Order: sequence, then structure tokens, then C-alpha cells
Amino acid sequence: MQKQKVSIVKYGNDRENIKKALEMCGGLEKIKKLSPSDRVLIKPNLVMWDSVLAFPKYGVLTTSVVVEEIVKLLAENGLTDISIGEASSEDKSRGSSTVLAYEGLGYHKLESRYGVKLLDFNRGPFTEVDFGDFKLNIAAEALETNFLIDIPVLKTHNSTKVSLGFKNLKGCLDRKSKMLCHNVNIPLDNFVSHLGERLNPGLTVIDGIFTMERGPAVNGTAHRADLIISSTDIFSADTVGSMVMGFEPGEIDHLSMFAQRNGLSLDAGNIDIVGEPLASVTRKLRWDWEWKADNSGPPAFERMGITGINYPKYDETICSTCSFFNNLILILLLGSYDGKPFPNIEFLTGKKMFSEGGYDKTFLFGKCIAEVNKDNPNIKQAVKIKGCPPTMDEIVKVLNENGVKADLETYRQYRQSLADRYKGKDEFNDSLFTVS
Ligand code: SF4
Repeated sequence: MQKQKVSIVKYGNDRENIKKALEMCGGLEKIKKLSPSDRVLIKPNLVMWDSVLAFPKYGVLTTSVVVEEIVKLLAENGLTDISIGEASSEDKSRGSSTVLAYEGLGYHKLESRYGVKLLDFNRGPFTEVDFGDFKLNIAAEALETNFLIDIPVLKTHNSTKVSLGFKNLKGCLDRKSKMLCHNVNIPLDNFVSHLGERLNPGLTVIDGIFTMERGPAVNGTAHRADLIISSTDIFSADTVGSMVMGFEPGEIDHLSMFAQRNGLSLDAGNIDIVGEPLASVTRKLRWDWEWKADNSGPPAFERMGITGINYPKYDETICSTCSFFNNLILILLLGSYDGKPFPNIEFLTGKKMFSEGGYDKTFLFGKCIAEVNKDNPNIKQAVKIKGCPPTMDEIVKVLNENGVKADLETYRQYRQSLADRYKGKDEFNDSLFTVS
């Protein structure tokens, strides 16, 4: 069997290198073979936007420079039916939506210059796809396009370890299906592995200009990796992308599952890697967040001497949006700490935690965990933080009504501190997130 090719190219602030990466992996040749009337869909990773708080985008979002260069290449090769599709998280309170992300990243220029259609997958339409054990509603445009270009970020993920070509395709699902993927019985990796099989992109370009340690969100640590990793084969692209971040391919469950179903080897020796030698660009990244040994909270609780609270570690049943707010609650709790023990409280999240009792109040974050614990006799007083996901205002209100002095200003300062880590460093350049 012929080896699949993956190119690793240094970006080096030279846009020509993006084209070079596509040339070297055979992607450009594939584009040249398309007919002008073929429908092309680009799927970047624009998981969230934020119009209110400081938002360091490095390693979180696909850079605009990579998307722009690929659109240019498509247009130069006569393609006229180009779309970009994404479903960013929606939250009015922090100004997050796909449309706001497109605006903020300058995509309207791609619309006016090249006639690119900007699709908000949150609005549908969707087609139900039966995978046997489950059904998912997938954006019809992603299913029907003639050529799908998947442009994930070179980042780690707190549940699937990496978020690359496979994981990026989860953004083609409707809200209900995304929630289903964070399931009590079926691992998230299983859903993700099937998406790669069904949508099977013609080209995967991993944007590694920035990479993210302990991703996938803003609270991780971004590094400048300055790499473009491309392949016409999603499995090979993700295998190499994972190795660049220091993982063995077999450690990534969705790659193992995909390989097993399709009779593929996880041995990278079966991939023809061209360009930069893999060993010279590999950097081992952390993906997980540590928790206290007794699982009662993050290490910061221990460092600050915080007691009187039980905050078990999130699990993979928590949806991405609830996960974002989980971080917010932790920051609010840390900010409210005044040296006195918390009043014997616990917080449960996700879809399967079950209180074992021993606390005066049990905060149930989101509708799922409230449902799981609704008749739990171990709970003395249940405090529901309602919503799916709950809003920031609801979180702050419920905390304050129940003896935790939560102030959103703490979170605003925290977000500013995240952005400040990159200030004054030449390699972290915001212009990469703007269409020229
Ligand atoms: S409450 Fe949270 S975990 Fe439950 S379905 Fe809604 S977003 Fe997902």
C-alpha cells in the first residue's frame, strides 16, 4: 500500500510557506483537479468568541492568515463556490457567536473579495446520520460539499488529549448532537472517530503557528510552534500532529478506534513525512489539569489553604460550554476566599456525578446533574444553578444567594492576566488573526 504523505513546514512569517505545505503533501494537486463549479467548504476551528473580556486567541482559534491563504489558492485555481462553516459557542452575555467570530477575524473581506459564503452551522440545516449505536445531526453543507478542507489548530484537549482534524469536525454538529457526544455510556473519542470517517476531508491543514498546552480554551498556555502540518489524509495528519505534541498515536483513543475499524496501523513509519524532520519539531505538551489527591478541588485550593469545599474534577460528560463556565466558577470561588473555610459545600458538574453526602449544601451545575441527583437522599440541601448551560448572571446570583461572595470583576481580571502573559512578546502577534 502506498504511504500517505504528511508535510511539516515552518511558517516563518512567510505566507508562501502555507502554499508550499499544500504542494508538498499533494493537497495542491488535488485542488487543481477540482472543477470550477465544485463546492468547497472550509472548516476552521473558531470554538468561541468573546467581545467583552480579554481574549488571547493564540492556540485557541485557527489563524486568519492560514484561512486567507487557502481561500486565495482556491480562487487562483478557478474555484468560485467557496464556503466557510463553523458553529462557535453562543452566549450573548460575553458576545460569543459565529457571526461575531467571523467579523472579529476579518472574514467579511473574504466574502467581498472572493465571494466566500460565511455559514453559521448553529442555524442549520442539518441532516440526521445514523452511525449504528447513535445518530448525529450534521450540517448538510459539510455532508454535501465536493471538497472539505479541515483547518484545526495544533492543540491539546482536556478530554480527548488532542484536538486536531477529527475533533474539529465536531463543530459541524447541531447543539443537541454536540451534547450527546459528552455521554455517560459512549466515550467522546468514539463519536469523534466516527465523524472523521463520515465527513472524510479532502485536505487537513493543521494550523500550528500557535500550539496550546492544556487546551483547548484560553486558560491553557500557548506557544509559538510556527508549523503548518498538511495531508490529504486526516488520519495521517492527526497522527503526525499528535506526535508533534509529544503523544504516541496509540495514546489517542479516537485514532486507535479509527485505525481498528479501518484496518490501519498506528505505526508512524507507515507515513511519508516530508519537510521538517519530526524529531526537530516535537515538543511534549501537557494536556491534563492536575487535581488534589482526594479529588476535592484543584491544587490551588491546597496552595491557598482552602477548606470546607468539595469540588470533584470535571469528567468527559461535561459539554464544552458547561466546561467553560466550570472554570469561571472556580475562579469566582478562589476570588471569594477570605481566609475562612467555605461553609461545608460541594459542587457537582457534568452528567454522572452523584453526591455521597456529608455537605450542608450541594451545588448542582446545569440541568443534567440536577436531574441525576434529583432524588439523591445523601443531599442535605440541593442548590440548583439552572440552565443548559447556566448563564454567567445565573451563576453569580446563585453563588451570592448561598453565601459565596462572587464578583465577576475577579473573572475579568483573571482573563486580563491570561492575555497579559503574551504582551510584549514579538512571537504573539494579533495581526495573524486578521485577514489582510
Ligand atoms: S447542562 Fe451542561 S452538561 Fe448538561 S447538556 Fe447542558 S451544556 Fe451539557
